[in-house]
Amino acid sequence: MTRALIDLDAIAHNTRLLARAANGSGVMAVVKADGFGHGAVPVARTALASGASWLGVTSLREALELRSAGITAPILMWLYAPFEELDDAVLGGIDVSASSTTALETLAGAAQRTGRTAAVHLKADTGLSRGGATAAEWPDLLAAAVKLRDAGLLEIRAVWSHLAHAEDPSDPGLGRQLEAFGLARAAAREAGVESPLIHLANSAAVLQLPETHFDLVRPGIALYGAEPVPGRVFGLRPAMTLESTVILTKRVGPGTGVSYGPDFYTDRETTLALVPAGYADGVPRGIGGRASVSIGGVRCPIVGRVAMDQVVVDVGDSPVVPGDRVVIFGSGAGGEPTVGEWAEWVDTNAHEILTGIGTRVPRVHYSVESPNETSTRSPSLPVECAEITPS
Ligand SMILES: *Cc1c(COP(=O)(O)O)cnc(C)c1O
Repeated sequence: MTRALIDLDAIAHNTRLLARAANGSGVMAVVKADGFGHGAVPVARTALASGASWLGVTSLREALELRSAGITAPILMWLYAPFEELDDAVLGGIDVSASSTTALETLAGAAQRTGRTAAVHLKADTGLSRGGATAAEWPDLLAAAVKLRDAGLLEIRAVWSHLAHAEDPSDPGLGRQLEAFGLARAAAREAGVESPLIHLANSAAVLQLPETHFDLVRPGIALYGAEPVPGRVFGLRPAMTLESTVILTKRVGPGTGVSYGPDFYTDRETTLALVPAGYADGVPRGIGGRASVSIGGVRCPIVGRVAMDQVVVDVGDSPVVPGDRVVIFGSGAGGEPTVGEWAEWVDTNAHEILTGIGTRVPRVHYSVESPNETSTRSPSLPVECAEITPS
């Protein structure tokens, strides 16, 4: 019924495009939140085969999932409670970000217990006010890190930060962040941190702000093919197609109420098509009458409220029948909406739409370039996806 087709060739294309834009800097493919809903392991493998050399995740659980799949590339994780036990991170050779001296002590404790050196990326807060040490805290963080390094517990692998608004190069906040980052790097040098990796750029910065590239860039959304800068097109290819099937149609007269409420009534005789995809599958409930899907290459509006498991589409007088394919979003090549359009309709970003695709929606990975990256062939797939294989 409803499923997400994941085009691994698009991931490969996007990785190569980002690596070219990075122009010599390394690429850390950000595969947090299960690869933005695309499946972290197949995305990671494809990105690593296409020019990425690092992987970035939020949690230890995400990092260990990659290691369990046999992925040996360097991995950075950056979100955990400072009282969390990090032994498995150290044992798994996973680099850990630290924003506070408490976090450093926790990591050093894990190094002591496991008998291994822990690799740390010291994070500076340069204006986002989320993770990272403020300018006032930075000298203490550096001093503590150097002490633990000299004790043989830590290797200081990197100094890094995150941008607040790389989408707009004219934003004065950007200049302030770059300046603060420069001061943080200078302080690290003075404190005796020797040639750490420096990384800062997210997708928008990789593509339009070369001054943010340094040693390593960290694209997320662009890997998945959503254009990160409003009004600019860099040639990324959307990797996910969310598709479903019409399971019932009915002819109704004017004035027919549709779905809960109802807050929609037909204004003419028309055909309604039932599609088994609702907000539990990631179709946002707050579409407010703006969203459409593609059936047989024709855009048709979703009418009435989005329910947990289903939506109703007004197909007018089109000869739609049960079994017809419905494209909720895709590359746009066949006239269907893109994830970017969905994001505009519900006033959010592509990140939220993609990571909101429900866990009950099967992810079906395919690749024509490297069919071996996928597992077995599924017999029920549309012809244009002959190499598709379930994950
Ligand atoms: C999510 C994230 C990224 C990727 O950001 P995009 O805007 O999706 O490219 C990079 N770095 C950090 C720290 C992140 O949390």
